[in-house]
Parts: sequence; structure tokens; C-alpha cells
Amino acid sequence: MSITGSASGNDNRGIRELGGEEKVGWDEVTQGVALNSFVGESENAAFLKPEERNYNDFNSYTATVASWRIIKPVYNRDICIDCQNCWVWCPDTSIISRDKQMLGIDYDHCKGCGVCVEVCPTNPKSLLMFGEKEDNDEALAGWPTKEKK
Ligand code: SF4
Ligand code: SF4
Repeated sequence: MSITGSASGNDNRGIRELGGEEKVGWDEVTQGVALNSFVGESENAAFLKPEERNYNDFNSYTATVASWRIIKPVYNRDICIDCQNCWVWCPDTSIISRDKQMLGIDYDHCKGCGVCVEVCPTNPKSLLMFGEKEDNDEALAGWPTKEKK
């Protein structure tokens, strides 16, 4: 997983699951085919961190959707209170949190919906949306100051 947004998708996605070297298109898959999310046993996957799980090539975790995004959330560690609101509400599981500490954004899977910014309770917010091309350091340098109520 990348926090900085490097692409992790690959052209071989699903080859193993959909017929070896003779790749089958998504519209040629027979009804009832089961595509497992993990290679081999998966019973303990829930207890592993995402980067420790053995995802198969067909799982969406191995693909990036970064190109779908036109705006992105930028995270400001200095203001964050680790309340985990953003982690709970993100519809794409793209907030990276470990041991109840917010670490950043998974830019490979974030779609730029802005929900995390809406639910962030700090003043100013610890997450703000910026244009996709905006440099994160520049965004942080121009962060708004606390608003008087
Ligand atoms: S912008 Fe949306 S998808 Fe991206 S981290 Fe925030 S809530 Fe998740
Ligand atoms: S919602 Fe805001 S304050 Fe809470 S963990 Fe996320 S970034 Fe930090």
C-alpha cells in the first residue's frame, strides 16, 4: 500500500483466477464463478494488517483507483486529535490508522469523496480537500488558522 499515491495496479490482475495464461474478460466469466480475495487460506486475514494479507491479483486491493480522483484530501498531523472519525466514515477504507493513531491517506484507493473532511471535528480541520495536482507540502504550508466561533 502506498500513502504517497504510487500506482499499484497491474495488467495481470485476475489472470490466475480467470483461466491461467488464457485471460478471460470480465464479461466472459461464467455465472457462479467464485473469486477468492486471498491466495490460500483466508481464515486469519481479519487479524492481519492489510499489507500483511496475501491478496490475490483479482482483489481490488491490488488495483489503484487514483486516476478517478480530481480532488484529494490532505492530512495535517499537527492538528489531528486521533479521534478516528475519518477512519470510521471513509467509504473506501482509505484512511490508514494503526493502534488508534491516524497515519495518513491511502491514495491508491481514495476516490476523493470528501467525507473524511466533513466528519473531521478539529478547528481548523485536520483534513482538507485540494486539487489533485496540488503539492501536499504547499497545501500544508497554507493551512487555515483556527476560526473564532
Ligand atoms: S476523500 Fe473519501 S475516499 Fe478519500 S480518504 Fe476521504 S473519505 Fe476516504
Ligand atoms: S477525523 Fe480529523 S481529527 Fe479525527 S482522526 Fe481523522 S484527521 Fe484526525
